[in-house]
Amino acid sequence: MNYQDRPQDHLSRTEEAQCPQCGSVAVGLTSVRSALWQGERLVIIEGLPALECRTCREQFYDDVTATMLDLLRGAGFPEERADRFLKVPVFDYTQLLKRADPAEPEPPR
Ligand SMILES: [Zn+2]
Repeated sequence: MNYQDRPQDHLSRTEEAQCPQCGSVAVGLTSVRSALWQGERLVIIEGLPALECRTCREQFYDDVTATMLDLLRGAGFPEERADRFLKVPVFDYTQLLKRADPAEPEPPR
């Protein structure tokens, strides 16, 4: 495998890219982490190659990456293919509002 081909592939892909938001062609390649919901299940995908507009900061995927994501989604994000698992805190916004209510003074120290 010739690794020197890879940066050129990326370069030609970003040269063709145009921002779907503002139409700018000043688009660069970056790597992102994305959180996706599938029903009640949350999955995270790291190391996603994304194109980022230098003008409006819109991030979007090229066709290859979008297709890979569709395939992974279609396969139901199988756990056996996950790299690792995360424990995440879940906040209920309505509960946060109650705690921030000024009608309930903080207990004296
Ligand atoms: Zn843009």
